This record gives sequence, structure tokens and C-alpha cells, in this order.
Amino acid sequence: MKGLDTNLRLQASPQLSNVFLPKRLTLVRNLNFRSSSSSSPAMLKLFSSRVHHLTPAIRPGPRSSVDSPLFKALSQLTGLNRRSSSLGHRVFFCSDSASEAEAAAAEVAEAEAKVAEAEAEVADSKSSSAIVSTNPKPEDCLTVLALPVPHRPLFPGFYMPIYVKDPKVLAALQESRRRQAPYAGAFLLKDAPSTDSSSSSDTEKNISELKGKGLLERLHEVGTLAQISSIQGDQVILVGHRRLRITEMVSCEEPLTVKVDHLKDKPFDMDDDVIKATSFEVISTLRDVLKTSSLWRDHVQTYTQHIGDFTYPRLADFGAAICGANRHQAQEVLEELDVHKRLRLTLELMKKEMEISKIQETIAKAIEEKISGEQRRYLLNEQLKAIKKELGVETDDKSALSGKFKERIEPNKEKIPAHILQVIEEELTKLQLLEASSSEFNVTRNYLDWLTILPWGNYSDENFDVVRAQQILDEDHYGLSDVKERILEFIAVGRLRGTSQGKIICLSGPPGVGKTSIGRSIARALNRKFFRFSVGGLGDVAEIKGHRRTYVGAMPGKMVQCLKSVGTANPLVLIDEIDKLGKGHAGDPASALLELLDPEQNANFLDHYLDVTIDLSKVLFVCTANVIDMIPNPLLDRMEVISIAGYITDEKVHIARDYLEKNARGDCGIKPEQVDVSDAALLSLIENYCREAGVRNLQKQIEKIYRKIALKLVREGAVPEEPTVTSDVEEAEIVAKLDVESPEKDAAKELKEEEAETKKIAVEKVMIDESNLADYVGKPVFHAEKIYEPTPVGVVMGLAWTSMGGSTLYIETTVVEEGEGKGGLNITGQLGDVMKESTQIAHTVARKILLEKEPENPFFANSKLHLHVPAGATPKDGPSAGCTMITSLLSLAMNKPVRKDLAMTGEVTLTGRILPIGGVKEKTIAARRSQVKTIVFPEANRRDFEELAENVKEGLDVHFVDDYGKIFELAFGYDDKQQD
Ligand code: ADP
Repeated sequence: MKGLDTNLRLQASPQLSNVFLPKRLTLVRNLNFRSSSSSSPAMLKLFSSRVHHLTPAIRPGPRSSVDSPLFKALSQLTGLNRRSSSLGHRVFFCSDSASEAEAAAAEVAEAEAKVAEAEAEVADSKSSSAIVSTNPKPEDCLTVLALPVPHRPLFPGFYMPIYVKDPKVLAALQESRRRQAPYAGAFLLKDAPSTDSSSSSDTEKNISELKGKGLLERLHEVGTLAQISSIQGDQVILVGHRRLRITEMVSCEEPLTVKVDHLKDKPFDMDDDVIKATSFEVISTLRDVLKTSSLWRDHVQTYTQHIGDFTYPRLADFGAAICGANRHQAQEVLEELDVHKRLRLTLELMKKEMEISKIQETIAKAIEEKISGEQRRYLLNEQLKAIKKELGVETDDKSALSGKFKERIEPNKEKIPAHILQVIEEELTKLQLLEASSSEFNVTRNYLDWLTILPWGNYSDENFDVVRAQQILDEDHYGLSDVKERILEFIAVGRLRGTSQGKIICLSGPPGVGKTSIGRSIARALNRKFFRFSVGGLGDVAEIKGHRRTYVGAMPGKMVQCLKSVGTANPLVLIDEIDKLGKGHAGDPASALLELLDPEQNANFLDHYLDVTIDLSKVLFVCTANVIDMIPNPLLDRMEVISIAGYITDEKVHIARDYLEKNARGDCGIKPEQVDVSDAALLSLIENYCREAGVRNLQKQIEKIYRKIALKLVREGAVPEEPTVTSDVEEAEIVAKLDVESPEKDAAKELKEEEAETKKIAVEKVMIDESNLADYVGKPVFHAEKIYEPTPVGVVMGLAWTSMGGSTLYIETTVVEEGEGKGGLNITGQLGDVMKESTQIAHTVARKILLEKEPENPFFANSKLHLHVPAGATPKDGPSAGCTMITSLLSLAMNKPVRKDLAMTGEVTLTGRILPIGGVKEKTIAARRSQVKTIVFPEANRRDFEELAENVKEGLDVHFVDDYGKIFELAFGYDDKQQD
């Protein structure tokens, strides 16, 4: 026992530091274990009583923070937690230290005394003390040093650390310990008179300033005889023994010494039922407290396990000491000497404590639920991430993503404009801050994706070689010399300037004349990337300018998409069908296109999605349109229009021979020697099947012919000798095999070759001429446009222009009825307003001319006429049929047909002047197609005609007129004999 004690003392002694903690904790745990497992009360008493020698040193004193690591460690060990705010003020329970007159207390004291007996006898036998009696028994201590305890009274059986600031008091205490009378009186301080009731605000300093009588007045009369268990620096550990009452002050000197009475509990009947019941209630409440609060679990456990050692008074003390009652209530319990009353007081305090701990529990539960909910979410998210990573679903986490973006921009960082770089940097930072599952994260990621993938400052090297360009253009297209010339000019300028600034070329013409394919050729000639987008029917400005990023599924405009897909900043962009631009319900697409195309504006083109300006000035724009008039004017202003009118038969033959046939042959895998399409067949195809201005339909028909030829060839067994898919390796293997194999195999091989030879001969060359053309392309679609041969009276051929090219049309007039004053005109043939007016003008002008030529002819005055323009299903409009109508009316009036093979076009005024018309080339081509020999054009169109290619003008007798008189001459002034 002694050995252990010494050991403990050593452990409890000097400067504690965290370093020593594990050792101590182990010791404490051992002690706890022993104390709880011991069945002998004596053993328990001893061990436990030693615990408080140790524990106080590592328990926080009233002054020390409950947050100290030491305390936390101990709390974990003993099951204490921080739920008690008043913990620092509490005394600590020592499970079986003495109380009252019990033997246990005496034993402890005796043990203590015995431990130091030897030293004491040697050192202090002669010395005497005025303060503490040399008598070591507690009950003999009638004069004690009065120690003020600030927060709670010390209960018998508990220990309490206090801090003694006064060096005199400290010295006196040490002295008394040395004298083997280590006792003092611990008295609770009364509230300071000036401060409020909860005068726990009494600082240590205030207390240490209280001296003598002043101090006595502030002390409660009833206190506890406390054994001085240890002194470390100014920390003194007191163990409560029994109740005292101050009777008088011994002296005014310091430290305050008082005379005391030892108080005894009022005698009570151990078997009293009320006391028993009360004590049971206290115990059961203790158990409840234990259930709801783990705070004092250790103490309660220890207590309940050794309930047998406790008496009612001790039970009451225990309850009062551990519960969080305030100092006054605790003092009340201390002062109560009636055991039953004391038990009741304690019970009250404990019930209160129960309620508090219940409330505490619900608060804690609510908070815990909240925290655990969040934690759960976090945990699940982390797990999800890990699973995704494991499955390879989400490999691009934030850092990988930004790494990817940085890598993208790294190679041409110096080429990226500063304002773009800045935006990229900002967005990258933003990306790091955003939650990966948030929608904004996705928006930012997509935005960065677009920003970093665009070819900032990345230009393809332009080729300004005019000769090469010419070669390429000729390779791709027949004719179109004016278009090609214009493109070569553009390249030449680029060569001289070193750069080709973005220009807008607009190719206009009927479908299938090669507008789109020329665009492609230009890109090839200039060594630019090609991108085509059609704006036909486009009504949404966002298609051009992009959506704002905030919209779900927002996308940048077509131009940004184009830059991304071509990967260079100077592509050739073909904007198809610009004349069919839709009308936007929100915003005008034409204006958006203007911003895109205008060289003044497009250096700073702002896409709504990108939200940064991009330079499109290096982009070469080529637009295509069928009708120039439909292009919005502001757009047209900025374009350089090159019109492609369509092809004449001769041109079509060339195109078919040199381009379309070649392509079709290649596409069908047919060799040139396997097929022969005669000139007559081609001509017939063009004349009777594909009369439109362009060659798209011709291309289709040629492809149809070649597909049929391919089928025929295959049916007849003309398959390529070796499958084209055989790889080199396979071939080598076959050769090797044949090499090794016997001469019989060689013979077989020869036989095979012979067979193939004969087959080849068997498959004759496929010949296509006029006679079998219908087998390939069906019956002719068109018949001759000329429906009259020769034209009868009242019928004249006019020339019309449509978006599909030119065409010839007849104007027919006939008499409905004749009679005095019946003159009038009916019109049919789906004519537009302009054309209807034209008929009225023509009627008037014709009447006037007839009056001049045959003054006595009353035809117009007496005849009801009907004018019709055939192909009644086709709507027609325009003023250019004016002269044709007059001629038709005059022919009827004079009963004379017009000259053979004559066609005419021209607007006529009321005075008979001929005004210019449009589409000269198309009309000429149409006239040629109808074997017209003589054409009448307005004088003002002479230049247009002269600009036409020679092959178009060839063999035509063209007359340019500015007055109807000349047409009259031409149409009717012929020699009848010649006409036949
Ligand atoms: P568009 O855009 O004017 O409607 P495309 O450019 O699509 O017509 O041309 C249709 C087809 O006709 C293309 O395959 C093109 O190669 C061919 N083509 C048109 N004009 C010519 C030409 N002058 N020479 C060779 N092929 C031509």
C-alpha cells in the first residue's frame, strides 16, 4: 500500500506536461479498472482515495480552461464530455472518501498520516505551529485556516482544486502539511454585496485581496473540513471530510484562522420509510440522469456499484455535489443537518438537473441531426465521385478539365488576343470554385470549351499563285470566264498586297449553274478551308449571333461553329441562298448578317454566346442567290454581284462531256472504254430532258445512265478480276502459295486467265445513242417549245425570264365576236397586275398604229378580242411582253402572220417607245433553244447582248429597237415569197 501510494504521489507530482500524459492516463485507467472490479470495499477505498491524489493534478482547476488537451483526453477516458458548462466549477467525486464520522474517512486520514509518519516524527517533533494542531485526527481540528472557495461548497467525500494567491496562506498550508495536520476549513464565499446575485464574477484577485475580518464576513458560516491533499505551485487540492461551523475568529492576523464546531447530522432512523423512499427516489433519479447524460456516468456507475458503502447523508451529499445546482442551493444542502430534509433538497436539485439534461438532449439531437444530414450528403457525394472514377464515367474532374483547356491554348498562347486570354483565365478560376454537379459548372465548362477550341490567330497560308488558281478553276468548271476572271483579279490583288482582305462576292443565277461548286473551287484555289451554310428560310437571329449563355442548350452562332470546325481563322464561307433569308419574329436576320458580312464591322464581330469580339475580317465570304432583287438592299450594297445566267446547249454538251460524265463514271466505277455515249444522245438528253438553265438535272440524268450501265455490266459478268479489297499481305500469300504449288495449279491459273479474257470479249462496250436513250432515262420530258410551225395569225413568240432561266412563250389573240362598237379585250393566262396593264397599253397602242397604217380598218372598234398567254397554270408577270402583245393584236387586225422564227421582248410605252428589259442572256439562250433566228431586243439592251459570249450570239439575227415602228417593219414587212 505504501509503495503504491508513493508511486501515485510521484505521478501526481510536479510540472505536468502533455508528454507525460499517456503514462498517467494508463495509470488512471488501471486504477479505474481495479476500483470497479474490486469486490472488496477496503481495497476500493484505498485505490480510489489515491485516485484523487492523482486526478486533481490533471483535472482542470476552476481557473484552467476546460478546453485544455489534458482535460479533453481525460474526458474521453472517463466519459465526460463538454455538455456541462459548469464543469469547471464542480467538485470532483472521490468514490469512497470519508464523510462525517465514518470509519472510511478515518482510515484514509490514518493512512495518510502513516505514510508521512516517519518524516513527520523526525522533522517536526519539536516544532510547534500556531495554526494547525499537531494532532493529526480531523475531529481534533478545532482551529483551522479558513480558505474561501469561490464557486461551490466543498462536500464531504469530494475533492476540489483551489488556487491560493496569498503567499502567506500558501506557506501556512505547506507548514500544516509538514506538521502532519494537513487540514483547513473550506468555506463558500458569499456574494459580493455590490455585484449581482450570480457573483461568480468574483475574480481570484478580488478574493485574494480579502483579508481578516473582511474575509470572515464574506464567508458562509458552514463549511467543510478539508484535507490538503497536495500543493502544486498555487494550486491546492482539497478533500472534503466533515461539516464545520465557524464559531469565532482566532486572530486578525493573516492568514485568517477560525475556531470551528464540527457539525453532526441530526440523528435519524435508518429504517424510516420516508427517508428510505426519498433515498430510493434519489438513486432512481441518478440512474435516469445516467441514461440521458453521460456526463457523470463514471461517478454514478462507481457510486451505484458500491451503493452498500453509502449512507443516506452521503447519498444526499453526492447528489447535491454532482448536479449542476447553483452555489446557494448547494450551500443549502451543505448546511442542512436533517438527513431527510437534505435528501429532499438533493432530490429537488436532481430533478431539475434531469429536466435540464432532457432539454439539452433534444437540443443536441436536433443539432446532430442537422450536422449528420449534411455530412451524409457530403459522404454520399464523395462515394459517388469515387464510383464514377472507378467506372471511368467521370475522368475529367476539375483539375483535369482545366489542365485540358490550358493545354489547348498553350501552343498558340501568344496569338490569342489579350482580352480573350483574360476571359479564359477568369473562367478557369471560376471553374475551380464551382461545384462540379452544379449547372453553372457545365455552362462554364462548355463556354471554356468553345473559347479554347477556336483557332485564334491561326491562319492557313494563302496561295496567291494566279496560274495555279486558273488551273484549279478550269479543272472544276467549264466556261464561266467572267466569274473566273473576277476571282483571279481578287487573287492578284492579294498577291500584290500580301493579304487578301475579306470581300463579299455574290454569285447569282438559276439553280444548278455551279454557284456552290465555284465557291468550293475558289477555296481550293486560295488554299483556304471551305465552310458552307445555308440561310434559306433562316428566321432566328441566334443562328447567326448565337444564344446568350444563360439559356439552356445555348450554342454559339454559325460563324463560331464554322471557325471551330475548319480550325483556321481565314476560311472561305459560302452563305447559300441569301435571297431566301427568312423574316425573324424576334430580331432581323438580315441585320445580323450585315454585321457579319460588313468589312467595317466584322473585325469586331460579337457573338452572344462567346461574349467576346472575334475578328472575321480575314474570312472570305461568298454568297449565292437565285434572284438579286430579293437580297435585302443594305446587304446587296456591300456585295460584288457576279451573275451566272445559265448554259446554252453547246456549253451543256461540254460540261456533260468533260465534267459530269467523268464524275459519274468515276462514281460508278466504270472505265471510259466500257461505255460510249454518242454526241447525238447527249444532245437529245440536253434538248429533250434537261432544258433548265443549270446542269443539275443533266447531272442527275447522266448519273442515272451510268448507274444503269453499271448494272448492265455487272449482269453481263464484267466484274473486276481481283477483288479490290484484297490487302497486300493476302496477295503476297497467294503468290507464295502459287509459287510452291504444282504445275497442275499453274495450268488451272492459265485456264482462269483465259476464261476472264473470253468474258471480257463477251461484255461488249455499252453504246448509248439517240435510239436507245429512252431505255436509260425514259421518255422525253420536253417536246419542242415551238408549238406553232409556222405561227398563225394573231400568235407571236415572246421571250421571258424566270428564276430557272429564260424561256419562250407565245401570246395568242383571237376574235370573240364582231359588231359595231363591240370593241373590247378579254385576258387569260394567270397574268399579274403589271402584265394586265401591259395588255391594256398594248390594245391602245395597237389601235393607234392600225389607225396610222390602215386608217379605214375599224377592226379594234368593232371586235371583241381575247388575249391568252399559254401555260395557264404558270403565273406570269412583268412588262417585257408589251411589244409581243401589240404585234399579236396587229397580226390579228391585219390578218397577217408575223415573220417566221421571230421572237421579241421589250416594254412599250403608250407612245410606242421600247424600254429595256432584264435577263438578256437567259432570253437569248431560250430563243436559241427554240430555233429562233430573229430576235428583237430594246435598243437599251444592246450592250448586254454584246457582252455575251460569242457562242451564245452565234447565228442569230438580232435587232435593237427603240420604237415600235421598227418592230412593225420587222414583223410584217417581209416578203411573202421569202417567208415560204
Ligand atoms: P448551284 O449552287 O448553282 O445550285 P451547284 O454548284 O450545286 O449549283 O452545281 C450543280 C452541279 O453542276 C455541280 O456538281 C457542279 O459541279 C456542276 N456544274 C455546274 N456548273 C458547272 C460548270 N460550269 N462546269 C462543270 N460543272 C458544273
